[in-house]
Amino acid sequence: MSRVLLDAENQITNQFGSNHTGVDVVKKYNELDTVIAHSDGLVILSQTGMRNDKGSVGTKSYGNYLKIKHNDGYYTLYAHLKDVYVKNGDKVKRGQKIGYMGDTGNAYGAHLHFEVRKPDNKVIDPTYYLDNDLPNNSDILYQSYDNKKKMWLPNVAINTSEYVGNIGNEMGGVYLDKYRMRVHDKVKNSWLPWVINRNDYAGNLGNAIDGVQIEGVTYRVHLKGGSWLPWVKKVDNTPNGYAGIEFL
Ligand SMILES: [Zn+2]
Repeated sequence: MSRVLLDAENQITNQFGSNHTGVDVVKKYNELDTVIAHSDGLVILSQTGMRNDKGSVGTKSYGNYLKIKHNDGYYTLYAHLKDVYVKNGDKVKRGQKIGYMGDTGNAYGAHLHFEVRKPDNKVIDPTYYLDNDLPNNSDILYQSYDNKKKMWLPNVAINTSEYVGNIGNEMGGVYLDKYRMRVHDKVKNSWLPWVINRNDYAGNLGNAIDGVQIEGVTYRVHLKGGSWLPWVKKVDNTPNGYAGIEFL
């Protein structure tokens, strides 16, 4: 169920990645479709009058595009539109028609380039949000598994001064709502698969974790018998791209 195309189905043609700030979608069977607002919000940017401009960079590369601000400060962005049906300052409702897919800007064929940005305007992987609600900070919970006690510790709400864990005890797993995350297994010496939501947890209960990566959130970890490590804001294999002990 697509939240951005009227027909409620979409097919990804290009994934989010280090050189791609959003996800590219077309309607199933490669047809074009009307673009709808992902959630209620306010149009804060509307660029129109653009044509196809292969190789262009910066905001030109988006062609005709819209940026909408939502609850909790998250943004969605819709690029390469052929037609734009709303203007800067308009309030929009979830599912409202806001434009039609096209190939304006730096596009090699018509598609929708869809982005999700955090309140600090940094992009996050939008794939999950193609058919799900945006993050709502007030109800994002997380918890961790204490290897010594052999139990999940209580839930903690994100963005509070609380933390999950028992400082001094090693952790074997982490649950986090609404964000993609993975952990590094100290025993296996490898990253475990990415998980999202509570369908699964990140970790191998009983094995200690010595690294954590989370997309779209600022976080840090505490060393066993040590202190808090620096805050981490990005996801890669550089020493600042994960929270944990330097193992790579
Ligand atoms: Zn794109």
